Amino acid sequence: MTELLYYEDRGLFEFEANILDIEGRELLLDKTAFYPGGGGQIADKGTIDGVEVSSLRKDERGIWHSVEGSFAVGQTVKGQVDADWRRKTTCGHTAEHMLAGNLVRLDPSLSVGKVNINPPENMVIINGHMEMETVKKALQKVNLLISQALDISSKEYSKKEAMSWGDVRAKWNVLPEGPVRIVSICDFDRSACTGVHAMNTKDLKAVAITQVHKRGDSTSIHFLVGEPAIDFLAESNVITVDTAVKLDTSVDKIGEILPVRLGREALLDPIIHDLNESKFEALEPVNVGELDLYAEVFQGVSQKWLSKKAMGLTKKETGKMVVFATVNPGGGVNVIAAASQGLDINVGQIMGELFRELGGKGGGGPTSAGGGSDEWDIDKARALLEQVKEKLAAGQV
Ligand SMILES: [Zn+2]
Repeated sequence: MTELLYYEDRGLFEFEANILDIEGRELLLDKTAFYPGGGGQIADKGTIDGVEVSSLRKDERGIWHSVEGSFAVGQTVKGQVDADWRRKTTCGHTAEHMLAGNLVRLDPSLSVGKVNINPPENMVIINGHMEMETVKKALQKVNLLISQALDISSKEYSKKEAMSWGDVRAKWNVLPEGPVRIVSICDFDRSACTGVHAMNTKDLKAVAITQVHKRGDSTSIHFLVGEPAIDFLAESNVITVDTAVKLDTSVDKIGEILPVRLGREALLDPIIHDLNESKFEALEPVNVGELDLYAEVFQGVSQKWLSKKAMGLTKKETGKMVVFATVNPGGGVNVIAAASQGLDINVGQIMGELFRELGGKGGGGPTSAGGGSDEWDIDKARALLEQVKEKLAAGQV
């Protein structure tokens, strides 16, 4: 049976051990500091005699270490656990206990589902209906506990004794009889867990939530720990403050204001559409030289809509030219021009020249053209249409 050094001394990363058995590439050691993974926490990384440990496995005989190379039973080997990776996985696991422990404490109807600690991505699924306000309070408390530098211990107790305390988070019905390992974050949170944890809450530095996904009656919370959490908190803070400035509000009002703004746009969309349709229906051509010219400025319609209307008027008709512009909600003007077949004009040429004269871009072929500019406004669009008329009237085409 392998002696589990990772429980005895969480700060031990170098150790010597004897090989008890070998199966294929796997070495069974008499003792090890390599945590094989479990309880949602990914396994340790590191080397044995300088050779990378590619995987770890636990069975009733102990811990098996998969390594390439030639080893013999009875041989003494030197194990080296990747301390940086261990720090990330243990801090991730402790952060999960603190977050879940606080959530369940704030709302006892919640329970912890699946846990996945695989830095920098960490995730916990919480079962039950969870309010975002509860998430906020839990995160505040987690970061407060980090600043309080609380010791974290891990020890085995009899199941009966641990159950009698009444405050241990555990799925008692699935835990086997016999000793139960209890992880205590000072006297704040006690939980049945076989994982390896940080030694002190201050090792976590900070915890930040990056995503909250609700699916049915459960919610997955993704979180970062340590430096990545500090970076994320700083970045999201600055983005939130900047968004508040752009919305002309304060950070605490963004949640209220944003849906109203988005809702208003959704409400206005069909009205804008109807206004443009009415404008199109009422459109009368002006007779310029040998053709009927339809020229109009629309607002907030798509280029596809403009194109469809322009083609509809010119494709099957004779003697017609269309110049339609639309002013975009975010600024800028798009223009579509089209003409019936058989006219003695070149639409691409006329429009290309005008676009350039007015500081825009665009062009096309004899019967259709497109262009515009991100810099133009409604006055520029109207000016362009007037110039088309003048050009046609003067016969400069
Ligand atoms: Zn755990």
